[in-house]
Amino acid sequence: MATLIDGKAVAVEIRGVVRDAITKLRADNDLQPGLAVVLVGSDPASEVYVRNKGKQTVEAGMQSFEYKLDAGTDEATVLALVERLNADGKVHGILVQLPLPPQIDADKVINAVNPDKDVDGFHVINAGRLATGQKCLVPCTPAGCVILARRALGDLSGLDAVIVGRSNIVGKPLVQLLLNENCTVTVAHSRTRDLAEKCRRADLLVAAVGRPEMIPGAWVKPGACVIDVGINRIAGEGKTRLVGDVEFASAEKIAGSITPVPGGVGPMTIALLLANTVTAACAIHGVEAPDLFK
Ligand code: NDP
Repeated sequence: MATLIDGKAVAVEIRGVVRDAITKLRADNDLQPGLAVVLVGSDPASEVYVRNKGKQTVEAGMQSFEYKLDAGTDEATVLALVERLNADGKVHGILVQLPLPPQIDADKVINAVNPDKDVDGFHVINAGRLATGQKCLVPCTPAGCVILARRALGDLSGLDAVIVGRSNIVGKPLVQLLLNENCTVTVAHSRTRDLAEKCRRADLLVAAVGRPEMIPGAWVKPGACVIDVGINRIAGEGKTRLVGDVEFASAEKIAGSITPVPGGVGPMTIALLLANTVTAACAIHGVEAPDLFK
């Protein structure tokens, strides 16, 4: 049976490190990091994320600023808010919750955020810095995947990593991060031929697709580390349950280690968002940043 990779416990640990770092920054540098979250519309999943983010931001000792705009808000209004937050000295991190309603160009909004405050790491400048090995704000979910993989496997150098999914927010940045870890990286997507065969080669298999339980245990290499990013809501028997992109029951019998859903990658995302906000605040104020990414 695979060892369970407890993302919830690792996230608690990281949030503790972040909280201690903030206590120190406030005492030594009179610096309190601040995170602004912009939510447009009332997507229920996004509302839950934003609520959790706000709560954990305050628990970590940061200032939390929340902006909830109607679903019908126009692009110019959102861009004007982003400009205001860019200029606000109390705000060190800006996160615009995705998805945005169709009348708003998400790329335009993401690229309007000051790259130094882009704690999601989605701005084209941070994406370019990541791709070219420069210091940058790293997208939170892929960063969480790497930390969990390292916890399970130790040094990732030389491993065959297969990422299923090539989105800008998970798959693509994860390619860069795993290359930095000296993995040999394969990226699969909806046009990939013989996905099962590709997955079976992976010492480290990351699923970021958004299709419930599409990867069965039979596709997992014996002893591999499986990181399941997928969050899929399945309705049934009066309640919804969450499942990943990996069929957990069959995969845990084959894998060496595996993340559960929920309780795997999910909790890491907010923990790393808080860490990124501390890193951004330190950079903006010229204070040496603590190492929060062990
Ligand atoms: P996207 O929909 O943006 O991307 C999905 C990717 O999966 C695409 O690259 C697509 O390929 C690929 N894909 C779709 N169908 C198949 C298939 N049959 N075989 C192989 N590849 C396929 O999703 P995201 O990256 O935004 O999210 C992926 C999952 O991760 C979702 O469940 C999401 O909820 C979850 N997630 C969890 C987070 C967290 O834990 N905090 C954060 C972000 C996402 P193509 O490019 O060819 O279309």
